[in-house]
Amino acid sequence: MENLLTRIINENKKYTNLGNVADYIPELKKANKEDLGVYIYTTDNEEYFAGDYNKKFSIQSISKIVTLMLALIENGEEYVFEKVGVEPTADSFNSIVSLETKNFHKPLNPMINSGAIAVISMISENKDEEPIDRILKFIRKITDNQDININEKIYLSEKETGHRNRALSYFMKSTNILEKNVEEVLDTYFKACSIEVTCKDIAKIASVLANGGILPWSKEKIIPRKVTRIIKTIMVTCGMYDASGEFAVSVGVPSKSGVGGGILSSVPSRMGIGVYGPALDSKGNSIGGIKVLEELSERLDLSIF
Ligand code: GLN
Repeated sequence: MENLLTRIINENKKYTNLGNVADYIPELKKANKEDLGVYIYTTDNEEYFAGDYNKKFSIQSISKIVTLMLALIENGEEYVFEKVGVEPTADSFNSIVSLETKNFHKPLNPMINSGAIAVISMISENKDEEPIDRILKFIRKITDNQDININEKIYLSEKETGHRNRALSYFMKSTNILEKNVEEVLDTYFKACSIEVTCKDIAKIASVLANGGILPWSKEKIIPRKVTRIIKTIMVTCGMYDASGEFAVSVGVPSKSGVGGGILSSVPSRMGIGVYGPALDSKGNSIGGIKVLEELSERLDLSIF
């Protein structure tokens, strides 16, 4: 298996030249365009890895599935999906147009920025914990990694340049989708996107989803099975932004990408896969990462369809 992974990484590294690292968040420009790594964590606790699997990167939009899990556990699906839809979109992840024209101002789904910001606003604080503390606690638990933290430079860079997200959020405040203080909700969103992870961390999150909400390493059940089913379904239809349909055909595995270069893929009952390659295609998905997943899917027969 490790030979297969090494070969797949080496053969697909050339594609990283065809993409570009995200530059609309200045701090992301510092990533090394040629990096490419993969980590597999199976539901039987086997681990395989190759390439730049150990590099740290910001989780970005992959945090959208973590915050959706928390919001669903806390509020139930009826409440969450009353304010955010579950329909795919053909617009880009930071599009503002659909908010005004479609679906009665409801964000189309929780994987685009507007939907994720609305979902984050549903995570409550308690006496000793802000929403971001609860998100960090949850992510440390589902990765079994207590060292996970926010990359402060990326957070500040997002906050400084996140005008589009501000526009989306103030629009949603005007239509009562966002009920809380906009700047506080945005601050949690920017921090959640700036959480630093490795391929191993996201592979482990994916393995928990693959395993129906049970941590494979301790057998502890921490997410209701129904929530894992909802998350995996939304990953299939919306997880790769406006390239989700094409990805479902070519790879066929519930996945979520982020502009930091990560892709989290969950193969039901079998394994979690974490891929990292910061060179992105025009839709904001890791260009080398998609190639690696296409080949892995073919070689290991991973498509769920
Ligand atoms: N923080 C990024 C943003 O809001 C996340 C987007 C992404 O990963 N697609 O623009």
